[in-house]
Amino acid sequence: MIQVTAPFLPPKEEFYAYVDKIWDKNWLTNNGPLLNELELSLKEYLGVKHFLFVNNGTIALQLAIKALNLKGEIITTPFSFIATTSSIVWENCKPVFADIDKQTYNIDPAKIESCITKDTSAILATHVFGNPCNIEAIEDIARKYQLKVIYDAAHCFGVKYQGKSVLEYGDISTLSFHATKLYHTTEGGGLVCNSAELTYRLSQMRNFGFKTAESFDGVGINGKNSELHAAMGLCNLKYIDEILVKRKEQFEYYQLKLNNLKVSYQSIQNGTSYNYAYFPILFKTEEELLKAKAELEVNWIYPRRYFYPSLSGLHYVSEQNTPISDSISSRILCLPLYHQLTTEEQDFICRILLRAQNY
Ligand SMILES: *Cc1c(COP(=O)(O)O)cnc(C)c1O
Repeated sequence: MIQVTAPFLPPKEEFYAYVDKIWDKNWLTNNGPLLNELELSLKEYLGVKHFLFVNNGTIALQLAIKALNLKGEIITTPFSFIATTSSIVWENCKPVFADIDKQTYNIDPAKIESCITKDTSAILATHVFGNPCNIEAIEDIARKYQLKVIYDAAHCFGVKYQGKSVLEYGDISTLSFHATKLYHTTEGGGLVCNSAELTYRLSQMRNFGFKTAESFDGVGINGKNSELHAAMGLCNLKYIDEILVKRKEQFEYYQLKLNNLKVSYQSIQNGTSYNYAYFPILFKTEEELLKAKAELEVNWIYPRRYFYPSLSGLHYVSEQNTPISDSISSRILCLPLYHQLTTEEQDFICRILLRAQNY
């Protein structure tokens, strides 16, 4: 069976060495030594000013919305993982969907401005599949209307834009280190922002709002992560360069082998150093997608329809017109892509796809 993804697992002995350290210190969570080591290592690896490790990417989004004190309406993308929208609703704000660009699959800045009302407080955009949004245009709009910008950068581990980490743009960027992501800590997430003051606020909020052991700065939540998760993160970080190199080869191998397949691909923003985290293909019609998916499934290959359905159709949001997202959502399929995937398996997948289109 081939799934859309499979988690990377480091050699057990390397993980056990960290487990020994945890037992020696008898320290499991609450800002422990491994967590500190991981935060410093990731800050350095990602090339960012401030970095906080939290317990998942969804809490990272919720903390970002909370720390920026967002109210009212947040303009967001309908083409993302459910957590991008559900976090907004969970924080009692209203998601307003601006449709996406049909080449990049990211929120279309030209559609943002008409969504702005007196109640708009922010833009929450996803760098879809690690492809940077049109950051300059979003910044211009945010400046003009005094809006905050959060980037859901869950797919962006290692992505650079215009020579620096893509995470450095916007007021806050959030990451996910879930087991299915390119870089993972089993469960986990991250927050990046350029302001030391905001980082401090986020760090208080992730720890119940504690200021000292006996005083509080404000309302908080439990967004902390554990030493065991940090250990997994430290183990995996040693392999990330190898993973990134392999991912690019696998991505390019698919492109080569699927050269004759009648599908189109996401356009990557100029100036991007990309991480090749996913391999989405866009069919001409949903029927073609369903046929290809069914052919793969009878061969025990399980691609995923990322992202389907379009979030603008969720029953708990007010209905909004996002025809491009609806259309792309219905026609896009992510092929299996993970470190252990072999060339033979890729060949097999490609043969089935080509055969489904009658080659
Ligand atoms: C995975 C993901 C999240 C959620 O991250 P978790 O760590 O699973 O909570 C949020 N946004 C996007 C775009 C994602 O892909």
